[in-house]
Amino acid sequence: GKKAALSIDEYLRGEPLSSKEDKRQPEELSAGEVSALKLRFPSENKMPMKELEPKERIKDFREIEQGYSVSEAKEEAGRCLALQIEGCFECGECKTRCTAKAINYEMQDEYVDLNVGSVVFSTGYDLFDPSVQYELGYRKYPNVVTSIEFERILSATGPFQGTLLRLSDLTPPQKIAFIQCVGSRDPSHDRPYCSSVCCTYAIKEAIIAKEHSSIPLDITVFFMDIRTYGKDFDRYYERGKEESGIRFI
Ligand code: SF4
Ligand code: SF4
Repeated sequence: GKKAALSIDEYLRGEPLSSKEDKRQPEELSAGEVSALKLRFPSENKMPMKELEPKERIKDFREIEQGYSVSEAKEEAGRCLALQIEGCFECGECKTRCTAKAINYEMQDEYVDLNVGSVVFSTGYDLFDPSVQYELGYRKYPNVVTSIEFERILSATGPFQGTLLRLSDLTPPQKIAFIQCVGSRDPSHDRPYCSSVCCTYAIKEAIIAKEHSSIPLDITVFFMDIRTYGKDFDRYYERGKEESGIRFI
């Protein structure tokens, strides 16, 4: 409000607006003021996040932290005084507490012209549930996994810290078969289109699996036809065959 009043005053006087350049830091409150505020607004502990029980975590690939419900998220956000009074009054508490240093009070909206080679249009996607294709044995056999689940198995932050293991007995696999186009190019499941990414990431996962495996690993990719969309991705396919010894059938 004060900034607005100053700007209006400057505008009416025909002076350049200075408040845009206002780089003031939030005023530091005295110990007495902080105590008075704490009395008015007692601090509340962070809302605990629901987590899966350890015995549940080993069953599948769900996130361990379950996230807040709408009411929990509102309650957590309500710990900020700004929600309890008329708005942010620049106490600086959030900036002090944010260890990632992500709070910047001076940040303004800005338009930036950039010269770029390409633009990534990221729409997100829903996962296909392969258990509807009974013949593949997904959910029936523990070692049948989706590509996203396999990605987690290969990941250093995944359930096995990047060590390649079978879910059935936690031993390294000797053979892996990739089956392409599951849930794509299949009118019987209302998905007649090619998803255009899975050939390339299957090759990537196969190459990484070979690198992560502690024993010789035989990998075969079963495909209708390989569609490695994108510049130079066909060369990646050739590399998978020739350098990593992946079989494509
Ligand atoms: S400075 Fe941060 S913590 Fe303080 S009232 Fe404003 S938003 Fe809330
Ligand atoms: S052809 Fe390759 S990219 Fe297209 S749906 Fe099949 S596996 Fe995916």
